[in-house]
Amino acid sequence: MSSIDSVAYKYRSLCLSGIAEQLEQLLSQAEANDVSYLQFAEILIVHEHNQRNSKRIEQNRKRAAFLLHKTLEEFDYRFQTTISKREVNSLLNFDFIDTRENVVFIGPPGVGKTHLAIGIGLKVIDAGYKVYFNTALGLMEALELAELKGELKKKINQLIKFDVLIIDEWGYLPMNQHGMHNLFQLVNALYEYRSIILTTNKEFTNCNEFFIDDNIAVPIVDRLIHHSHIFMLGGENYRLKTKLNRCG
Ligand code: ADP
Ligand code: MG
Repeated sequence: MSSIDSVAYKYRSLCLSGIAEQLEQLLSQAEANDVSYLQFAEILIVHEHNQRNSKRIEQNRKRAAFLLHKTLEEFDYRFQTTISKREVNSLLNFDFIDTRENVVFIGPPGVGKTHLAIGIGLKVIDAGYKVYFNTALGLMEALELAELKGELKKKINQLIKFDVLIIDEWGYLPMNQHGMHNLFQLVNALYEYRSIILTTNKEFTNCNEFFIDDNIAVPIVDRLIHHSHIFMLGGENYRLKTKLNRCG
């Protein structure tokens, strides 16, 4: 008669570690619930499948490289009234990803743009997609570094493997022409192929303020806003509100 350990070892050697890790509990639950052989066969494989899914989601959360953990559940729509829960929820059927559309949050500092982008990003990961988060500046630096190593194409190819790229803080600092050129190559590779969630404090009509080279500015903005859901956020700065509350 085989011991649980030796059976678990056999499962593990076939890479069925989800079953292997919880074989004992699965067996005692099955005994307690008096399930049929067929049901038990199904329970085992469903368990393995679910474990793999949650592991993959956990890995995708790490790979996303979010700087902060911000959930949509924490977002207060009573404070931020220039976007509704319904508008945000309308994105959560993830059609925008399947149709390769972008989501753009425009607004002044502290109105919740990054919070919403990360909150949506987490839901996107939970739905099984791959997401990568970085600031525009961070991306620009990463591309520049890759270029120095002669690996710009490789880096862009890595980035376009993600279903959604979150580009935070577009336009906060002026970008040099070379950096913009690299970013343009990335945006061009993503265009109509992947989705971008972009946050920016600048209206695109004013784009020459932060793009030095208009020859790149126009086509890049064109690709960002074409097929996109644009949300103009306004209202008070949430950071100031919490500060004032603390003082008062
Ligand atoms: P932005 O990116 O527009 O500058 P953030 O998303 O970084 O603003 O928001 C600033 C801080 O305020 C963050 O800690 C964020 O979680 C919080 N915050 C902003 N708006 C809301 C909101 N409506 N409900 C809850 N927290 C908010
Ligand atoms: Mg922000």
